[in-house]
Order: sequence, then structure tokens, then C-alpha cells
Amino acid sequence: MKQLEDIKGLGPKTAKKLNSQGIQTINDLLFYFPTKYVLHEINGYEEIELNKELCLEVTVSTKAKIYFIRKNLDKLSVQVKINQLFFNVHIFNRRFLAKALLEGVELVITGKFMSNLSNFTASNIVLKKNFKPGIKAVYHFIDISEATASKIVKEALTMDYPIKETLPNYLLEKRKIPNIKDLIQTIHLPKTEADIVNSRKRIVYEELLEFALRIESLRKLNKSVITIKKEYNIETVKQFISTLDFELTEDQKQATNDIFRDLKNTSQMNRLLQGDVGSGKTIISVIASLACVTAGQQVAIMAPTLVLAKQHLLTFRKYLNPFGVNIELLTSDGTTAEKERIKTDLKLNNIDIVIGTHALIRKDIDFYNLGFIVIDEQHRFGVKQRKILREKGVSPDILLMSATPIPRTLAISIYKDIDISFIKEKPVGRKEIITDLVAYELLDTILSKVTEQLDKGYQAYVICPMINDLDTSKKLSVEEVYKLLYSKLGNKYTIDYLHGKMIDTDKDHILDKFYQNQVQLLVSTTVVEVGVNVLNATVMLVMNADTFGLAQIHQLRGRIGRNEFQSYCYLVVDDLLVASDRLKILKETSDGFLISEYDLSLRGPGEVFGKSQSGIPNFKMADLMKDNQILEEALEDAEQIIKRSDRESHILKNKAIKAIESYNLD
Ligand code: ADP
Ligand code: MG
Repeated sequence: MKQLEDIKGLGPKTAKKLNSQGIQTINDLLFYFPTKYVLHEINGYEEIELNKELCLEVTVSTKAKIYFIRKNLDKLSVQVKINQLFFNVHIFNRRFLAKALLEGVELVITGKFMSNLSNFTASNIVLKKNFKPGIKAVYHFIDISEATASKIVKEALTMDYPIKETLPNYLLEKRKIPNIKDLIQTIHLPKTEADIVNSRKRIVYEELLEFALRIESLRKLNKSVITIKKEYNIETVKQFISTLDFELTEDQKQATNDIFRDLKNTSQMNRLLQGDVGSGKTIISVIASLACVTAGQQVAIMAPTLVLAKQHLLTFRKYLNPFGVNIELLTSDGTTAEKERIKTDLKLNNIDIVIGTHALIRKDIDFYNLGFIVIDEQHRFGVKQRKILREKGVSPDILLMSATPIPRTLAISIYKDIDISFIKEKPVGRKEIITDLVAYELLDTILSKVTEQLDKGYQAYVICPMINDLDTSKKLSVEEVYKLLYSKLGNKYTIDYLHGKMIDTDKDHILDKFYQNQVQLLVSTTVVEVGVNVLNATVMLVMNADTFGLAQIHQLRGRIGRNEFQSYCYLVVDDLLVASDRLKILKETSDGFLISEYDLSLRGPGEVFGKSQSGIPNFKMADLMKDNQILEEALEDAEQIIKRSDRESHILKNKAIKAIESYNLD
């Protein structure tokens, strides 16, 4: 087989550089795809403007001069003209060009007029006779110049390289994508923009098909996981629902039905309950938990923060104590003796429902018969953590809850084999929160709106992106803002602060005071993001709002408007011009699904959910948001492939199974 060094113009030095980037063979090189393309098209004189990338045909009017700036840095300057416009062209480290740049020589230059029309900073200069219009691929090899890169790739393409088709013909035809030979040619040497689009589609499709096959195979494997049918007491459940002082919304009823259907049958429940903040997910988990308890099984509820776990403890006890359900809290907090007692009671089946944080997944926690798991704010937990908890039962049913809505295709890619229930409508009687974007300059005006609410007896949050002051940061800290507000309002109102670095007892103390309205204005980091449920709060200021994710602000905003009063959220930013494009959607809608999709399209799923946590695969080219359509196609095809028994389909299936074994932690 031919080696890298058989490529004309590729010496041992370059080969070594390529090796160190994981490129060992000619095939490796050809599968190292361009990162982008540039269009080499000559711009007309009338298209000239400042700060625009231009490609111009010019004539040298005065021969080139070289300036030595320092070691390894020289500048070539040459005066040129186009029509009657004379200007200087500057380019670094190209002094070898000087000999050729004589008066009257015609050139094509690429670059920009940075500050005036007398000086042009070029990224490239070629003699007109050498200029080839068209599309050029740009590579991202480390330490290898663009010119060398495209030269060696071009050479490699002319060689006899072995390459095997990886997709069945019928799919190539069905999806109208190029075969692998054509792909390799066009991805490196596209002639038209359609070439680029088509070759990209093939790569994305193939990546997503492999991925879809993994999901489909998993789905098949998981279908065969058998759980114990839960023989719950429907009468008790009905009786419980009738004690609620509100009627479940239609969506809540639907979700509850979905869950009960899962509990009743023998395949393992793996369901994601998606609903905006305040949409009433908790009560659904209470109902389902009660059902499992009546079926004689234990329930574990895992929440990402202590605050949230405690909140759930209160809620669950309030609802279920009258039904004789024994509910305990297990966190890293508390005395050793207390923890030991809970551990023993869990093992002895003296506890029906345990609510906790990460402490639940510790090695020494065992259950008598864990049959149902609820993971709240599930995106805060890693794949591994969910798995550990799951393994504490014998294939328990699992309910994941999330307030960061995720499009279906994205959800299945993160959670693999999963069913989804949505709660879209909000409980009746909630007013829309009025949200506004305001400049920090106008802080005093905003504060007067805050105090207006405080004077009416309501409470307020002020959210800051940092805890302590840093001189180097433009972001406001809890420390700084607390001091400022204390000096402005401290004589009339009670103000306190909260952040994640405080010890838990202090946190609890302050939250307690806030719950009891002994603190009117709480300056805090995002620790209040989930779980804090102070119905009396009607205002929130989010400082440096532009430094937060959209979904996150939406979630924060869910801390207010939890009652029938009008609530207000002010997004405070330094520069309205910069911030408003992204944030304005929060003003326009309170639909968490819309907001989260918008956020995902701007920042990508990895950013929004955290790469390592979410288990989102690393694609070379596919983008789960932008390539949603292709993912749908891939999922459809994967479903077919799984059912087929021809040789090509088998190869694809086997590859998927192997990949699951090595890649899937779940
Ligand atoms: P989520 O967990 O989805 O953010 P919660 O479960 O905390 O929302 O519900 C928010 C509030 O709405 C709670 O005080 C809850 O008692 C109340 N609630 C839930 N369902 C309804 C309903 N159908 N009608 C009225 N209030 C409801
Ligand atoms: Mg919740």
C-alpha cells in the first residue's frame, strides 16, 4: 500500500507533522475534511468598501519594497492601481514575491482596506496568470501552511487510494447523496456550492445514521428489560387526587396516564417528563410515587441541590403523610447517626420514599426493593450518576423530569431509549411575567420599581453572575451588589444575600427568613435557580443578564410569578445594543420550549447542557440542532435497517452494536 511519503512534494518532515495529528495513511489524509471553503471570485471596482473582504484585480504601479521589521517578520509593500485608484498593498513574510512585482505586472490581491482606501492589507497576492477562480477548501492542519495542505491533498487525490463504500446503494439513491468516491473528490475540490452542500450532507447523514443505529439497537435491547409489574392500588391513588385543592390540567392528566401505563406493564419505564418551570411536574411525581408505595415498592427521588431536595421533602410530606407514607431526606448533611438510621431503615424497608441529592448514589446506600426512581432537573446529573442509582434496584421504572425543554430528536440523542411526556399548559390563574431589558445606567429607576413592590408587601430577588468582586471582571458580584443595595435601601428594607459557597446551615437560615418574609430583598447567585418556591416574590432583577443562557434566565424567572399577582422581571445589562438581540426573546415569550430551542440554535446543545454531563456525542460535522431534518431521515432509515437482513444491513448493525459496547456508559 502507498504511504504518505509517496505523495509527491510530501517529505518526512511534513509526514511527521501529519502523523502527530493522527494522520498515518493516504486514506486518513483524504478523510481529513476541510473546515471551510472560500470563494475566489474577483470583485468589481464598484464593490470596494472599507472592512470588506475583497478580491481585486490590480496593476503594479511602483515596484515592491521590503521592510525588515524584526527577526522572522518582514513586510512587503507595493503600490498598485485599479481604475484611477492608487493604493499600497501590504503583506507579511512574502518577500520572495518582490522580484516578480514589477511595474505593470497584473495581480490578484485578497484582503481588506482596514481603515482607509490608501492601504490594503492582503492575505494573499498572486500573479493574475496564476489566479484560478472558483472555490477553495481551507484546512486546519497544525503547523502546515494552507498552500502545502491543498497541494498534498490534491496530489493524494490523483493517486490510487483504496476506498470502500460504507453505505448501501439504495440509501444513497433514496437520500440523493454522493457515493464515497465522489464525496472524497468533491469535498476537497468542489466545483460549485451545490457540491459543498451535497458532500456535507453525505458526511452528516452518515454520522447521524451510525448514531441512529445505535439508538435503534439500544431501543431493541431495552425493550427486553423486564420489570415487575406494579400492582398499585388505584382507589388510594384516586382518593389522593381528590384531596388536591386544584384540578389537574389536561396535560398533567395525560402525563399521569402515560406514567401509569408504564407502571402497569412489564417493560421498564424510561420516561422524560418535560414541562416549563411551574407547570406542575412535582405533583405528578407525587402521584406516581404514591402508586408505587401502594404496590409495596420503594421510591427514590434525586434532586441536584440540597435546597430542592428539602423543598421536595416538604411537598411530599405535606401531600402523603395523611396516607401513612414514610418519607425521609438523605443528603450529605446531617449527623452520622441520623444518616446511619436512614441507611438501615432503607434496607429494612421502613422508608417508603427517600428524597435526596447525590448522596443517594453512594456505595453504602442499599434499598429493600427500589422500584421507582424520579430524577428531577435530570440534565444536572451525568449519565453515570443516573446509572448508579438505577442499579440500586432491579430494573426500576425511571421518571426523568426537566424544565429545560429539549426538542424530541435532541432528547432521544441524549437519553437514548426514551419516551417523552410534555406538559405545555400552565395551571390556571397565573399571570404572564412582564419582562423588560434595561440599562444599568438606569438602576435607580428600576430600584424604584422594586421598592414599589416591596412597599406592597411583596419580595424581590436580585441575581448576580458572581459571588465575590474581581477587579478584572465587568460582571457584578453578590458581594458588590449587596453592599450597593444595602447603602441605597438598607435603612428601609431588609436585605440579605445567598450563594453556593456558603455553608448549608447558613443557606437554610437565609432561605427560611426569605420564606417567612423576614428578608424582603434577596441578592443571590443562580443557586435559587431551581426549587425555591416563595410565592410572595413578584420582582426579579438579573444583573449582567447577557452573561446567562436564555434557558437559564427563563428558569430563574420561574421563581417569580408563582401566584396570582402581577410579577416583573428586569434584565439589567451594560449595553442594550449588544445584549438585546439575544435577550429580546425573553421579553416576547414565556414559552420555555421556544426559548430553549432558540438558545440551542444559538449556542448548540453541548454549550447548553454541558458536554460531559449530557452525553451528547462528539460529531465531526453533524449538528443536532441544525441538522435536525437529516437526523429525522437517519432515524427513519435506521429503523428500516434494523429490520433488514441483507449483508450490508448486517454490517451496519454490527458496527452499531460494537459502538454501543465501547461508547455507551448508560
Ligand atoms: P415544576 O416542578 O413543574 O416547576 P411545581 O410542581 O413546583 O412546578 O408546581 C408549581 C406550583 O403549581 C406548585 O405550587 C403546585 O402546587 C401548583 N400546581 C401544580 N399543578 C397545579 C394545577 N393543576 N392547578 C393549580 N396549581 C397547580
Ligand atoms: Mg420542579
